[in-house]
Amino acid sequence: MSRIYNFSAGPAVLPEEVLKEAAEEMLDYRGTGMSVMEMSHRSKAYDTIIKEAEADLRELMNIPDNYKVLFLQGGASQQFAMIPMNLMKNGVADYIVTGQWAKKAYQEACLYGKANKIASSEDQTFSYIPDCSDLPISEDADYVYICENNTIYGTKFKKLPNTKGKPLVADVSSCFLSEPVDVTQYGVIYGGVQKNIGPAGVVIVIIREDLITEDVLPGTPTMLRYKIHADNDSLYNTPPAYGIYICGKVFKWIKKMGGLQAMKERNEKKAKILYDFLDESKLFHGTVRKEDRSLMNVPFVTGNEELDAKFVKEAKAAGFENLKGHRSVGGMRASIYNAMPIEGVEKLVEFMKKFEEENL
Ligand SMILES: *Cc1c(COP(=O)(O)O)cnc(C)c1O
Repeated sequence: MSRIYNFSAGPAVLPEEVLKEAAEEMLDYRGTGMSVMEMSHRSKAYDTIIKEAEADLRELMNIPDNYKVLFLQGGASQQFAMIPMNLMKNGVADYIVTGQWAKKAYQEACLYGKANKIASSEDQTFSYIPDCSDLPISEDADYVYICENNTIYGTKFKKLPNTKGKPLVADVSSCFLSEPVDVTQYGVIYGGVQKNIGPAGVVIVIIREDLITEDVLPGTPTMLRYKIHADNDSLYNTPPAYGIYICGKVFKWIKKMGGLQAMKERNEKKAKILYDFLDESKLFHGTVRKEDRSLMNVPFVTGNEELDAKFVKEAKAAGFENLKGHRSVGGMRASIYNAMPIEGVEKLVEFMKKFEEENL
């Protein structure tokens, strides 16, 4: 068996320890004689799994009691609709568009009400985060929406927007659990787990209780109502049971690693290795405004498409997988999520130095 360094933006690298533990428990989960995949989601064993997962996540993020934690399906993209359907009481919401995911969320919201694009960084191919300290927040906005870490472009909000009292809704798919957060600053925090937490198929929604009501847009399907899932502790129907079990293991792994502050320090250290190299390299350079750089997704280019392709190919042959940039932007992107070991980044930089010497 040999594992490569996987720089995929998602589905992405998971901690090896977690995978090993899951493998050990595959045929017989703790004396139940079955795998978690084969288990009733109403069983005692599974009840413990999902309750512990929630408790560990609450502890990690210090989630206050007036927030619900929901484990849902449909990916982050389903939330693009679920959010307006449940939250647009006045039929108005403000969107800050800092990349493709925020843009998709905005476009989806336009189907359900008056979505206002109050800021955007599209003028410079989403390479920065706009100043959000004094935006024209709509008087009757039900919420203000951001994508906190832009997976494709590699930017991150270092400071949350001033929403002037409106609830903030944030897609944190690609920065989930990468650093401490103050949950009280948000109305809704949500993310697909396949970037930084677990297998695709689970989306976690952390939502302030007062935002969960029966008053949803007419025609909202039962399955897309936050209230039904909140009232049933994410067990209204069969949840993505195995995925939640893996997420639970990752929560325990993060706790063992020292929690979110330790993750942040580790992530800063990893990202610094790569960004420092990009800043001094004569061949490679980063594509994002420095102060807005993501700790998780690091896009870079050589400025020459052919050379980019050569780099991706040679990197792959050397055991560095999935370094090709998103199809919409080209170049390269190294996603260095929580589970990417520091050696992975160090070795990548060594390889980049060697490539630079050979190709400059
Ligand atoms: C990957 C990603 C999505 C889409 O997630 P799906 O689970 O595939 O729907 C949405 N937002 C962000 C920030 C992402 O990185």
